[in-house]
Amino acid sequence: MFQFIPKVFSGVDVWKTQTSLCTQVFLKAGTLTSPFTGISCVSEKTRKEIMTKGSSGMEVILTSLENTRDLQTILNILCILNELLTVGGGRRVGVFVSKGGTAIVLQLLVQSGKEASPSEELMLHLHSLLAKVGPKDRKFGIKARLNGALNVTVNLLKQNLQNHKLLLPCLQVLRVYSSNSVNAVSLGKSGVVELMFKVIGPYSKKNTTLLKVALDTLAALLKSKMNARRAVDRAHVPALLAIYQDWHRNDTRHRHMLIRKSILGCIKNITNIKLGRKAFIDADGMRILYNTSAECLPVRTLDPLVNTSSLIMRKCFPKNRLPLPTIKSVFHHPLQHVPASGPVAQLYSQPPGVDDVVDESDDNEDTEVDTENDTENEEDEKDPRNDDIETDINKLRSRQVLTRPFEELRVYERFFREFSEDFQPPRLKDTPVDLDSISISKAPESKLELELVQGLSQLLLDASQSVNGGCGGEGPQEESGEQAVLEVPDTAALLPLHDPDLYLVMVKGTCSVPGYTEVAYPDYFGHVAPNFREHILERVYGVQRSKIFQDIERLIHPTDILDKVVYDLDFCPVIDDGECLKFNSQFESGNLRKAIQVRKFEYDLVLNSDINSNHYHQWFYFEVSSMRVGVPYRFNIINCEKSNSQFNYGMQVLMYSVQDAISGSPRWVRTGSDICYYKNHFSRSSIAAGGQKGKSYYTMTFTVTFQHKDDVCYFAYHYPYTYSTLKMHLQKLRALRTPQIYYRQEQLCETLGGNCCPLLTITAMPESTGNDHICQFRNRPVVFLTARVHPGETNASWVMKGTLEFLMSSSPLAQSLRESYIFKIIPMLNPDGVINGNHRCSLSGEDLNRQWLTPSAELHPTIYHTKSLLQYLTAIGRTPLVFCDYHGHSRKKNVFMYGCSIKETVWQTNVSASSSDLQEDLGYRTLPKLLSQLAPAFSLSSCSFVVERSKESTARVVVWREIGVQRSYTMESTLCGCDQGKYKGLQIGTRELEEMGSQFCVALLRLRRLTSPLELRNHHTHLLDMESDLIETRCNITCPTTYVMEEDEPAFLEEVDYSAESDEENDPDADHAHLDPSELSQNRF
Ligand SMILES: [Zn+2]
Repeated sequence: MFQFIPKVFSGVDVWKTQTSLCTQVFLKAGTLTSPFTGISCVSEKTRKEIMTKGSSGMEVILTSLENTRDLQTILNILCILNELLTVGGGRRVGVFVSKGGTAIVLQLLVQSGKEASPSEELMLHLHSLLAKVGPKDRKFGIKARLNGALNVTVNLLKQNLQNHKLLLPCLQVLRVYSSNSVNAVSLGKSGVVELMFKVIGPYSKKNTTLLKVALDTLAALLKSKMNARRAVDRAHVPALLAIYQDWHRNDTRHRHMLIRKSILGCIKNITNIKLGRKAFIDADGMRILYNTSAECLPVRTLDPLVNTSSLIMRKCFPKNRLPLPTIKSVFHHPLQHVPASGPVAQLYSQPPGVDDVVDESDDNEDTEVDTENDTENEEDEKDPRNDDIETDINKLRSRQVLTRPFEELRVYERFFREFSEDFQPPRLKDTPVDLDSISISKAPESKLELELVQGLSQLLLDASQSVNGGCGGEGPQEESGEQAVLEVPDTAALLPLHDPDLYLVMVKGTCSVPGYTEVAYPDYFGHVAPNFREHILERVYGVQRSKIFQDIERLIHPTDILDKVVYDLDFCPVIDDGECLKFNSQFESGNLRKAIQVRKFEYDLVLNSDINSNHYHQWFYFEVSSMRVGVPYRFNIINCEKSNSQFNYGMQVLMYSVQDAISGSPRWVRTGSDICYYKNHFSRSSIAAGGQKGKSYYTMTFTVTFQHKDDVCYFAYHYPYTYSTLKMHLQKLRALRTPQIYYRQEQLCETLGGNCCPLLTITAMPESTGNDHICQFRNRPVVFLTARVHPGETNASWVMKGTLEFLMSSSPLAQSLRESYIFKIIPMLNPDGVINGNHRCSLSGEDLNRQWLTPSAELHPTIYHTKSLLQYLTAIGRTPLVFCDYHGHSRKKNVFMYGCSIKETVWQTNVSASSSDLQEDLGYRTLPKLLSQLAPAFSLSSCSFVVERSKESTARVVVWREIGVQRSYTMESTLCGCDQGKYKGLQIGTRELEEMGSQFCVALLRLRRLTSPLELRNHHTHLLDMESDLIETRCNITCPTTYVMEEDEPAFLEEVDYSAESDEENDPDADHAHLDPSELSQNRF
């Protein structure tokens, strides 16, 4: 034996240096010879196996444990293991688990449990060991269940409630069992919930460790809906609240914060079910948690209690429908063709009362019975990250299919006169079709026009009066004539494309569904980008929490709430007692539906849905007046829909002060403090939400202190850019034509709302009418650009403005670019959406960027005809070199691109290992790479070239796959700001957005030089160097760009908590969602 022991341990590779420790363990264990006496009973064959070269010490020990029947030996080995795993930390536990230790110990436990009176010492050792191993073994719960260990522990507990020495390790093991949801259900059936209530009790300084473990076990068990119901039925909700209050009162020195938090954890899980929430409200839980939280607030270490309390209160806050007669948009635009299965038909066939909200997450479906079987038989699940990525290689391959016969496409020839232009006199026939002439002919009759002007001048007059009256001596008083004259800021020099008078003319030709007659000042005056920096806000700790508490106060102190409607599009006349703000948004792109004064200086605002829909609220644009100076006003937009927002990451709203404009600073500025974005207690019914589970709304709250008395201020989600602004800019751009510039502006089609969708053609005039030059002119590659399919993404229009201004400029670079390409540009794909203040849709109530696969000429004319233009180009062999659709991104920073690559998509899915033989030109990377070198706001690392299944009907993917444009992109500009490059830490402004648009042009010029074989021949080595530099970076792509996650924000000190209820993915009863399928195929339990 003495020789044997060192031999055993010579094989130990797990804790090579710990031999002395082991010896100590032996010594401690009693006698030197007894620990391994069991091994002498082991057969010669097994001993040989143990001694085989390569088996680790852990294997040796475990095999010994498995093969011995001698209690003392078992105890000794367990003792050794306990010591080893205590000292060795996670790595040794890892080895123990990987060598199958868990199952061996569990089997031992079950065997011993079968004995009439199992050794208490053995049980203690086994549970102590399992308590150490359990939390580190991901499959512990399932192993314990399959081995039948649950009942052994539960029975032991029941018999030893007073035996604290044994109770603790048993509870620790139980806690780990309970974290598996299938186990939780089965333990609940065995009465373990009740058992835990016997262990926990009122405040006591004794046995706090035990109490904590019992509470955590209970909390884990209560994640099961069945257990939660059991707890509600037995009146445990008031009991838990009473226990919490007791600890809150007595734990005056906050030594037991964790116990208090565990009690809240139990309440949190019970209130996941509807019955639990009701029991909580009935037990006055709101008031109890509100008051205890208020007392905890001053102590920073108690933050976890305040945060958990806040979470529970938000979850239990009774769900309300929005304070609206219906969530359908106020305005309805009757469509000529309403497809029966379309969203509009569905919307208007909904039953009355559809908006009524019930507490949705119901707990009546008893699905738990089946859960177990489902779990065990679960097939290998695909990596959920890949769910949305296209995996069908055939679908990924570009297939230029002509979906329409060429004869049909031939009508588009007229939009491509440059391909046949011969520039021979007489030039008269080339007079371009003029957008303005179209809109003028479509302009409303002079009567309406007159009303419009009167309405405007009235508005203007009011404002200018208030300027004089309000500002007293401080205001601009020079013009004290009887005539109130509005001083329009002189911005001609700063804003060459802006002209207030021209803007009014353009407004007259714009058709809106509500028939707007007013013009918002910011659009009339124009916006001069400020020359100061606007930093991304630092997130202030505790803002979200304090806002949420103010919301909860509404429920606790309802009499403090005014609830006064001060603006309402549904019922227009609203009482104005001079005690509140005035709101207005009845102008182009405006979309405020209702304003409710809730406290003296706090307003709830409700945005209108996109026309002919009942949702998509995010964009906002409205006017406020009658404000008091120096008072912080809180505004809450209560029906936002996205689950997260850059408003939580330093983005501010935009404000435009008419007073500032008149005194020489016409500009939008980032403003607002205490900004945050969180899920609120308003929701819509599941029917109204289109069959999905009822959706909660989110609140975007901000606080503003006004600087000027009698000001008129505007607030917007992002820098507004109306359709009328576009028309004005185009008119001004056309005036910039020089003899070198070829510029045409045509009407691509008319929109559903009766507006014109402009199409621009920009290139350089041929150098001469000589054959060569005409030939070069006609054969320039086509670059196809589009923007603003999503009306709420106004930044896309500012980027487009930058591109257009560059293209029309007189710089040599611009001339060179025009000589390189023919630009076909549709600067606004969704004019109706923009005009009517929509966020996402067109008048068909649909997202136009999801219609590219099969656009309808009747419902989606702009998409239908744009796609036709592209199809025509392909049909005549002139497929564009580049296609880019400009967008805005609400949840990420910087500017970046989405492109399409088969390889990167396949890489991302890991589906096909044979992807290496896929051939793909890496040219799609060149433009983003160039942009990252040229444009400071652009971030290459944010780009993605993965083709998502959910994006298969977007412009980018369809143009890539069907039209065959290899360089087909979506360019996304942040609404917030940058976290890299020259603008790091700054919010984005129109100057930066316009710069992005012009740098895009510069990048195209470089791309031309890189892609033109002729140029490469004539050009010199530096271009070749650059090309090879680019190729080099291409070759370095060993893994694809990061798959684009929904959010890319770092964690904050204060956890940003959006969810106020249990989400589907966190459904504690959906255990299989957390199981590693590989464990199911392994039968090594
Ligand atoms: Zn978009």
